[in-house]
Amino acid sequence: MATATELTSRPAALSEHAPFVNEAFLDFGEAAVRRSMQEALAQVKDRLGKEYNLVIGGRRIQTEAKIVSINPARPAEVVGVHQRADERHVEGAMQAAQAAFATWSRTTAQERAALLFRTAGLVRLRKFEMCAWLTYEVGKNWAEAEADVGETIDFLEFYAREALRLDAATTPIQFPGERNLLRYIPLGVGAVIPPWNFPLAIMTGMTAAAIVCGNTVILKPSGDAPTIAAIFFSLLEEAGMPDGVVNFCPGAGAKFGSAIVAHPQTRFIAFTGSKAVGLEIHESAAKAQPGQKFIKRTVLEMGGKDSIIVESDCKMDAAVEGVVASAFGFNGQKCSACSRAIVDVAIYDTFCDRLRERVAAITQGDPAENFYAGPVVNKAAYEQILAYIEIGKAEGRVIAGGKAFPHTDNGYYIEPTIIADVAPTARISLEEIFGPVLAVIKSNGFDDALAIANNTEYGLTGAIYSGSRQKLDRAREEFHVGNLYLNRKCTGAMVGAHPFGGFNMSGTDSKAGGPDYLLLFTQAKSIAEKAGMVSAREEEQEQRMGM
Ligand code: NAD
Repeated sequence: MATATELTSRPAALSEHAPFVNEAFLDFGEAAVRRSMQEALAQVKDRLGKEYNLVIGGRRIQTEAKIVSINPARPAEVVGVHQRADERHVEGAMQAAQAAFATWSRTTAQERAALLFRTAGLVRLRKFEMCAWLTYEVGKNWAEAEADVGETIDFLEFYAREALRLDAATTPIQFPGERNLLRYIPLGVGAVIPPWNFPLAIMTGMTAAAIVCGNTVILKPSGDAPTIAAIFFSLLEEAGMPDGVVNFCPGAGAKFGSAIVAHPQTRFIAFTGSKAVGLEIHESAAKAQPGQKFIKRTVLEMGGKDSIIVESDCKMDAAVEGVVASAFGFNGQKCSACSRAIVDVAIYDTFCDRLRERVAAITQGDPAENFYAGPVVNKAAYEQILAYIEIGKAEGRVIAGGKAFPHTDNGYYIEPTIIADVAPTARISLEEIFGPVLAVIKSNGFDDALAIANNTEYGLTGAIYSGSRQKLDRAREEFHVGNLYLNRKCTGAMVGAHPFGGFNMSGTDSKAGGPDYLLLFTQAKSIAEKAGMVSAREEEQEQRMGM
């Protein structure tokens, strides 16, 4: 078994002085690794159904109303019971975060980065356990769960180093006769509102970026995945986070979430989720409340309707694999998922046949048993995706799937579905479905393919499979997405290598995991001091201390 000790001795177990590298992937093909995962699943199963508290300023709080998180593969199984924060908890959470801000904002960047490094170490030690929670709570198979946990570790390691880099930054020029400084200082108290689909990595990334810059946070996890957030919060505490730096508050989005967004002392909102909610937050944050002293900052990462262009000069095997992995990995429940394949007329029929054959080989069942395709996240998503499939049946030709996949445990399973011959302006071609549904669209030449790829209101990810340098170069210029991939799938962004965030209605292009991300959680203070105005003795002393 790949024990915790072995995991921490991997090269990715970084010290803060080592340069960043992405966390190494586990090999579930190894019997020992598989056994570790099975043991973690068995251990976590014994802990399902436990109750968790709100934690505000370190105080444990219970509410009458609860949020019950269930296993989508087995809806009768309760994963965790959580308190439900409502409007009455907003003020307490804000005041706890404000109180913590007074001291946390003055701690050094080194101390704040150290908290992230320690937390990364704890997540790494408990990697299999974290994977198991993700499998039970949102239905991720082993590899998908591990990718989520790996990205979590990467965000912690990356943002810790970025905070140290920002702390060492200064003005590019020293004006003669002055001492010039540029310091990136925190903003204040922020609301962090993550989605359920990367409930560990995205929740951690937004929270870690905020606190490592000296801000404090009211964290409202998704109602579909509060348990993994509670486990992560306990690791922050174990790593030594002072009370009130993160306040753990599961609650209804429309009530508690919107109330913290509207609070006059909320300085910023870091949100990842749907376009509709993102726009609502944008609008609410723009309205100055009585007593508000600043313009709220919003970091909004929203939905996608992502295309892969398949040209006749591509390597067909790679294109089939790339489209299927991007469309059906985690059942298409990724903002980066390919939901439209735009295929050149010359290879269209062959490509559709190849897609159908490949999808027929997908196995479906309980993600705890590591089937490739598990359930979708909840009943509402299940019903909405099936409704879109019905719309798709009228808009095209079903060549794979097209219905629910009945299962003895009554999980929310839907067959991987491909609908061919879809018009570029059909509803299933333009609207985000967020499930295992791929529309295949025929293109007539590369100009047409690019025009179709750019015809949605979104602009998150996109890919092209082609052997032509000229087409790849045109795609670099003309395929308007925040994350473009050439001859590879459009999912699986790696922290550091693929800074992530979309154009247009996909969000504010915040580029998580990139070199500019932390700037969104800071404000830059420029300080110019006229030389020669303090006593010579003090200047000498300062110079000795390197100030
Ligand atoms: P969602 O918009 O329904 O919910 C996201 C979060 O917002 C949840 O925590 C929810 O409780 C909260 N919320 C809901 N209503 C609110 C309100 N009125 N005020 C404040 N908060 C509110 O999204 P979801 O179903 O959790 O996630 C799926 C969506 O997220 C998809 O659209 C997907 O494309 C998107 N997503 C985007 C990215 C990205 O990086 N661009 C990454 C992952 C997911």
